[in-house]
Amino acid sequence: MGVFDKKLEKDLTKLGIATISDLLFYFPFRYEDFSNVAKIVDLKAGDQISIKAEIKEIRAIPGFYGKKISRAEAVVSDDSGSMKVVWFNQPYLANNFKKGDQIFLAGTVRFYKTLQLQNPVYEKIRDEDQISVHTARILPIYRLTGSLSLRALRTAIYNALQAQSTVEETLPSEIVKDLGLLDITTTVKNLHFPETDTLLQQAKDRMAFEEIFFAQLAIQKHKNELGQQKATPFAFNKTLVQKFTSSLPFELTADQKKAIWDILQDLEKPQPMNRLLEGDVGSGKTLVAFTAALEVVNAEKQAVLLCPTEILAQQHYKSALKYFEEYSKISLILLTSKRAILNGKEIAKKELLQEIKHGGPQLIISTHAVLEKNVEFEKLGLVIIDEQHRFGVRQRALLKQKTKDIHPHLLSMSATPIPRTLRLTLFGDLQISQINQMPADRKVIKTKLVPNLERPAAYEFIRKQIGEGRQAFVVTPLIEESDRLGVKAATSEYESLQKEFPGLVIGLLHGKMKADQKEQVMADFLANKINILVSTSVIEVGVDVPNASVMFIEGADRFGLAQLHQFRGRVGRSEFQSFCFIFTENENEKTLERLEKFTQTTNGFELAEIDLKNRGFGNIFGEEQSGFYYFKYFNYDAELSDKAKYWAKKILASDPKLIKHPDLFKKIEDKVIHLE
Ligand code: ADP
Ligand code: MG
Repeated sequence: MGVFDKKLEKDLTKLGIATISDLLFYFPFRYEDFSNVAKIVDLKAGDQISIKAEIKEIRAIPGFYGKKISRAEAVVSDDSGSMKVVWFNQPYLANNFKKGDQIFLAGTVRFYKTLQLQNPVYEKIRDEDQISVHTARILPIYRLTGSLSLRALRTAIYNALQAQSTVEETLPSEIVKDLGLLDITTTVKNLHFPETDTLLQQAKDRMAFEEIFFAQLAIQKHKNELGQQKATPFAFNKTLVQKFTSSLPFELTADQKKAIWDILQDLEKPQPMNRLLEGDVGSGKTLVAFTAALEVVNAEKQAVLLCPTEILAQQHYKSALKYFEEYSKISLILLTSKRAILNGKEIAKKELLQEIKHGGPQLIISTHAVLEKNVEFEKLGLVIIDEQHRFGVRQRALLKQKTKDIHPHLLSMSATPIPRTLRLTLFGDLQISQINQMPADRKVIKTKLVPNLERPAAYEFIRKQIGEGRQAFVVTPLIEESDRLGVKAATSEYESLQKEFPGLVIGLLHGKMKADQKEQVMADFLANKINILVSTSVIEVGVDVPNASVMFIEGADRFGLAQLHQFRGRVGRSEFQSFCFIFTENENEKTLERLEKFTQTTNGFELAEIDLKNRGFGNIFGEEQSGFYYFKYFNYDAELSDKAKYWAKKILASDPKLIKHPDLFKKIEDKVIHLE
């Protein structure tokens, strides 16, 4: 940006702020109302207030061998009275002010021997008309990184707003006018420095509309485009499917059958299927996908199963070898950056790529490696994306480039439950199949919110389970904003568990590790070379580790229930009774109630619905799951969503490719969508 000092710019970059415009659109995540400027005489403990006062005296008090905290102490007064102010650990503040300075102070009033303000936010008043930035207003609170202070960020934004009097409108002006929305300049100003409650609310409403409008625009555009694409239809082959499903060692659940039926019907159409298969971890999505693949491959076309990790691809490949053993006509291919396997035998990668180029009845199980340029298909009939949220738009686009005019059918799979209300509002016409029931032989995972006093007993329990040959997961939360990948939290948990369980092998998995390292740790865990695996929440382990029977979740209050449910689903994948223990330091009654609910409910959709009510849309999926729409302001609001849809359709009707709306195009181009 070149307008701020180097350190500030570096801090801002860490927040993803690279331009002034990024800065202006970096909105607060909450507000504190200090607009109430009080008189000192009226104050009582607990009041959250601002005062306007004069410094009567101020001095620095040094610390004393850890017994006393260094601090600055002041006495301030207004025309009604005087009071004490303390800033702990900031003795240097005594040099910032002098007797007679006029200041705003904002904070919560405390009683300790006498009424006082402790560590209040301060702001010098230089002239009487000065607008307060840090005090005496509805104060914006922003997410920060390590060394960036709220004060510095707020000042930077304030200065940016002073320097730039207007912000370029982001919505078509006819919409702003027709819906009576606040213009973008007023919106941005009031989101940062609200003039009144009403204006703040209007600004939030405008952003809510904007969010849902862009989402609807992307969805509608995508839908229109899909409708025009052509795909190879596959006639339902009843004999084949029945033979396959009856050869399985178990009965498919009713939901699995229904999902298969939905998919086979889609495959009969000459337009590409675009279906999302949702089902809890362990609900048996893979077999549904295999059944669809069988029909396509049997008709001499290629099917790709795309997996987010090497190890997951290998796991699926192993299952495929087993399930398709009788089908000698089908070529089973594993293609990853490390492996090139045809029908169970390692071959030269070059040779394998030739095979794929020639085509025929092939099921290709792969990682990102299949997206590389040198991979060419003969006839790609079906693409299945496992753990779809792990893939971005670009990766899908790459796959698309490999298929010329005839598009493959697309099936994505996900364990993220989209709550019904959200689906109806946003994805009203999305094709989804859900698996709501678990295979019958599965035992319900016993879940408990463990009081901290019982932690030793819980550790004892882990020890016992491991003694019986089982394994355990420990998930740690993100605690500090600066620890975005959770490296710090996981590492310290890892170290403390090493002390707690000296005889056991503890593993560590976090997002800073290289892909290879991660794979290795997962492989070791799968091979039971690791007893306890500590992992950040950022890492999702989509791998089946049937031997793991205990899931520990630390800082459980920091997760949505749907997210907790995902973690829990990592255990309970075999005949062993499994357990999920959750912990929290938080004693808030509502929080505990929410967590208790989790211990009593095993249905992911129900939990997602509770999240939706409690935490709003944005939080269901965890922050910014790649590509999935992340809503900060829009909440469940069918009416607003319909309005947005109406306008999206209207604009697309006259400008289907958004050629006349380049700004809108830019907004949505990298956002399309996990509609699939
Ligand atoms: P996910 O939905 O998480 O991808 P998987 O497809 O990996 O789940 O299935 C989990 C396990 O359940 C696998 O070992 C699979 O063989 C098994 N399984 C799938 N369907 C059934 C069923 N109907 N009855 C019993 N076991 C099943
Ligand atoms: Mg799976």
